Amino acid sequence: MTSRPALDRLAAMIRAHKIPLATVEKIIAEEQQRIATLAHHEAGHAVAAVVLGGQLRDVTISGDAGRTTVEPDTFPRGREAPIAYAGPWAQARHVAGRRPTLRQVYAAMECHTPATDGGVLCASGGTAAGADVVPLLERCWEAVEAVARTLNRFGRASHADVCSALKLSRDPETRAVELALIRSGRAPGTFRVTPPPR
Ligand SMILES: [Zn+2]
Repeated sequence: MTSRPALDRLAAMIRAHKIPLATVEKIIAEEQQRIATLAHHEAGHAVAAVVLGGQLRDVTISGDAGRTTVEPDTFPRGREAPIAYAGPWAQARHVAGRRPTLRQVYAAMECHTPATDGGVLCASGGTAAGADVVPLLERCWEAVEAVARTLNRFGRASHADVCSALKLSRDPETRAVELALIRSGRAPGTFRVTPPPR
């Protein structure tokens, strides 16, 4: 929590430099939008990685950088391209407020860690190699937004946070069936899987 003296000092600085309140509000709004955009980028990577079968080690945003790490031995084989594409696509979807154009996705790819996402897509044969993840992200958009809110608030999100955003069960066998259903076209939360009797 910000202490009152800190706020007083900030107010004094603004007065001393005669920074107009409108300018301060604009700076704050731009910063909030920048962080929300970064949070959606990482949330896109994280949701795609989990739905495609990966176990997340960590998802973080800090300063200008975000990072989604998948436990290496659980990384979905051959799915590097869709997971890489999911970040810039979710970022562009957030900025556009609707399904983005290819141009908007390219713009998102350029302004954020091109060496990572663009490089993975290039190595996989081009952007088209990842674009088949789009319908999955559309189905899971509510989950992407929920993970982005967690990142916005705490700066990090866990595998459990992403599973909860995807409305997955705790039981691993039930969860595997739920993930298969989401991969094959169902939206999270629109079906119920009954665990087998034990
Ligand atoms: Zn990325």
